[in-house]
Amino acid sequence: MLIELTKGLGFSGAHFIIGHKKCEHLHGHNWRVGVTVEGEPDERGLVVDFLELKRLLGELCGSYDHRVLLPENNRALKRLSGGASTRISVHGREFEFPSADVVWLPVVNTTVEELARVVADEVVRNLSYPNVRKITVWVEESPGQSATEERRVGKSP
Ligand SMILES: [Zn+2]
Repeated sequence: MLIELTKGLGFSGAHFIIGHKKCEHLHGHNWRVGVTVEGEPDERGLVVDFLELKRLLGELCGSYDHRVLLPENNRALKRLSGGASTRISVHGREFEFPSADVVWLPVVNTTVEELARVVADEVVRNLSYPNVRKITVWVEESPGQSATEERRVGKSP
């Protein structure tokens, strides 16, 4: 059985894509996030609790909302200073942000592909439903531009 949660989840966030001619300039998107969960209903008739799934994704989206999303695994990004202010350099261009407005992500670039992987990791790590077999996460940065990450979880059928 397929459970879908695809509405009302998302966040506004700024990013840039290191090594991309146009997208290396700082810009923002209204990102949208959706998830589908596949599994067998338990004795209560539930594959997964919608409220718990929504709370989990809502918290994650909330932590990215109105923030600058920076890739911590990109070697072209140099951290010049930390503390109250985060100063970075990318290919000779310097940026400075209030540190409270920055989220460092475990990615090489803040792309939809990498974000879908990070969100899928978080869902797999935090959603403990024994009947769930597959979790699919998609992240969209603008209409028609999205990435999907699929994870098989739990025991094999
Ligand atoms: Zn972008």
